[in-house]
Amino acid sequence: MKKTKEISEELDKMFPQPKCELDYNNVYELLVAVILSAQCTDKRVNLVTKNLFKEYNSPEKMLTLSQPELESKIYSCGFYHNKAKNILSMSKDLLDKFHGQVPNNLDDLQKLAGVGRKTANVVYSEAFKGDAIAVDTHVLRVSNRLGLATTQNPYKCEIELMKLFDKSSWGKLHLQLVHFGRYKCKAIKPDCNNCPFTKFCDYYAKHNS
Ligand code: SF4
Repeated sequence: MKKTKEISEELDKMFPQPKCELDYNNVYELLVAVILSAQCTDKRVNLVTKNLFKEYNSPEKMLTLSQPELESKIYSCGFYHNKAKNILSMSKDLLDKFHGQVPNNLDDLQKLAGVGRKTANVVYSEAFKGDAIAVDTHVLRVSNRLGLATTQNPYKCEIELMKLFDKSSWGKLHLQLVHFGRYKCKAIKPDCNNCPFTKFCDYYAKHNS
């Protein structure tokens, strides 16, 4: 599809080597960071994990913390009660069911307590170089504005994107769409004047007619 190809080419020009912006040193840390990143900026998560991971960088070590102790360490990420509960349950699942190792496939990742499809996709793609498109708030917004998806349901959006783009590009595409949404096509006041996609964009058409 011509439009899809053009969008890929432009994204490649804008973000030739997109990188995950969460800091981590091992797959377990990545999984914890992704759980913390729900409704929170990567920058904030990195500030919190910089201290947290100094001591608590494995499921065994994390489980030495009580829930209130972990909550106090991750408080500034928001939703700290649920996030602490999920991190501790996920750590226990890793030890009980996976010998303390983060599984390297989507099915097992989603069996971990507190790990939904988006989190599993991010870890699968980032840590294991698996083919996956994680749909977060940025990917959902940008995909709809560009007419790549016509749904507010993240799972349906993922399926629509997977149909449009070559499997080998999914991991990179996810990161490119996240970066494009985070830095250019922001929720409020997107940078339309410097965007190569105006001719495809429903948002632009609506706000410039
Ligand atoms: S034209 Fe504006 S709203 Fe549309 S994709 Fe570009 S930055 Fe986003």
